[in-house]
Parts: sequence; structure tokens; C-alpha cells
Amino acid sequence: MKKMIAILLAAALLFGFAGCAKNNKNSTDSAAVSVVCTIFPQYDFLRAITKDVEGTEVKMLLAPGDESHSYSASLEDISLIKNADLFVYVGGESDEWVDEVLKTASPKKAIALVELVKTLEESDEGILAKEEEEEEAGAADEHVWTSPANAAAIIDKLAQAMAEIDSANAETYRKNAAAYSAQFKELDAKFQTFFAGVKNKTIVIADRNPFRYFCDAYGIKAIAAFSGCSSNNEIPLSVQNELIKAIQANGLKYVYVIELNTSSYADAIAAQTGTQKLTLNSCHNLSKEDFESGKTFVEMMTENYDTLSASMK
Ligand SMILES: [Zn+2]
Repeated sequence: MKKMIAILLAAALLFGFAGCAKNNKNSTDSAAVSVVCTIFPQYDFLRAITKDVEGTEVKMLLAPGDESHSYSASLEDISLIKNADLFVYVGGESDEWVDEVLKTASPKKAIALVELVKTLEESDEGILAKEEEEEEAGAADEHVWTSPANAAAIIDKLAQAMAEIDSANAETYRKNAAAYSAQFKELDAKFQTFFAGVKNKTIVIADRNPFRYFCDAYGIKAIAAFSGCSSNNEIPLSVQNELIKAIQANGLKYVYVIELNTSSYADAIAAQTGTQKLTLNSCHNLSKEDFESGKTFVEMMTENYDTLSASMK
């Protein structure tokens, strides 16, 4: 992965002169304000913030349907970042490549989501599979967007950045942001009310668990196969057995996976425990079909509310 980035960067430097032509802001084919986002959450936020503002263009580098943790930037992506007025990435373990890219490519403004809200340290609490790679001690968990309250705060801060970049449309950006962040605040209140009445707040995820901020917000105890950004997708037999034990010990009727999961482990576990498999959206990405139909992050989070409120008591 790192070697690949080094090669791409070297190539980007070699072809640097070609890139310069694109820096010319007088060219009419480029948007007045170009926003480039690595993954779906910030793409969705900025799409909402720039709604009805002519001349703004928001791009997502991750292809819809792709696994975000195996993304690597192409030369074209690096050129987009370089020419962006605003580049928004997550920051953290999965975005180490960004630090390298930003050494040579300089968008007008670069923002990391992890810098916009209070972060929680990565934790292996409730994670059953031992990770091969040693985690950096004290590193922040990067999945800040999974808490609706955080999403609301991030939207307001991104709108502030847009207002600074394009002051002529500042009021529209703020108005759009206020309308969208209000939906997340409302959803947060619904989750608070629901979970206040839930007696058993334990869930078992036969998958990765990127929901640390979400769980922290509502006092949910998650037991999962892998940590949030794990590249593992094969659940060892010992871990499968531990997941089964956790389901039985907690008297659960459901087992969860995250969206775009294609493995059959959860089905096997559900069959063995007589439980039903349900999907939770971590919102790293969405399917091509959902992307094209304009599905939003708040809709995906609302699906989580529907799923959890129907399956937890
Ligand atoms: Zn992740």
C-alpha cells in the first residue's frame, strides 16, 4: 500500500507540469468552487450544504459500492485533491496516505473530520479477534460520523469552512447546513429516548465494529468480531464460537452485520443460534444503486433507528 502511494506520488511529481494547467482558475470548464471528499459521510454533508448553489461541485473519491478500507488514490484523484478549493478526509489510521499526498499537493483548504469533534481513543473492548497489526497506543478512533450528534456538529463546521471559501454564498451554506443538521439532532433525540427505555443494551456484530461513537452516545455494549477498520473478513472458528456464546449468554434474538457485507459467517451463526441477521449502516460507503438514486446519510442512519428499535427491547 505505502509502496504504491510512493510510486503514484513520484509519477504525480513527474507529470506535475501537466497538472499546473488545471490550476488556472480562468478555465471555464471547472467549477467555481470544487470540493473533493474521500468517503461518503463528508460527501453527503457537503452535497447538502452546497444544495442549490450554482457552480459548486462536490466529488467523492471512493467509488460507490467499493470497500473504503482498501481504497488507494489514483493519479487522477491526486490531481483532483491538488486542484480542490476544499478537500475533506477523515484523518486517522485509514488516511495515512493523505499526509503523504498533502506534502506535495496543496488544495486551498484541507479538513480532517477527526479534527472537528472530540475523539475517542481506539479500544479493543468487545473485539474478539486478535489483530495482527499492533494498534498505535492512544490513537483516535476515526469513525466520528457514526454518532448523529457528531454528524450535526461536523455539518455546521463544514458549512463555516464553505462560507469562508465562498463568502458570496455564505448565507445559503449556513441555511442548508442548519436544515440538515437539524435532522441529525432530531434523530439523536429519538435514539436517546429509545435507548433510555432499553433494558439489555448488548448487541453482537458478526463483522467489524465501526460504531464506537454511536455506542458511546447511547450506552450500547457491542461485542464484535473485528475492530472498526480491520482488513480481516474471515472470522476464525474460535471467534465464531465466542460470538455464539455471547448471543446465547445475552438471550439475543438478532445478530448484526454492517452494510455491503458479503460473507456468510453471520448466516451460519444466525442458523446455529436461531437468530435473525440484520444490517446496520456504518455509512463509510453505499451501493452504486443507492448512490445514483441520491440516498442520504440521514436516511441510512434512520434505517439504523428502524432496525434497532425493532430488534432491541
Ligand atoms: Zn473505517
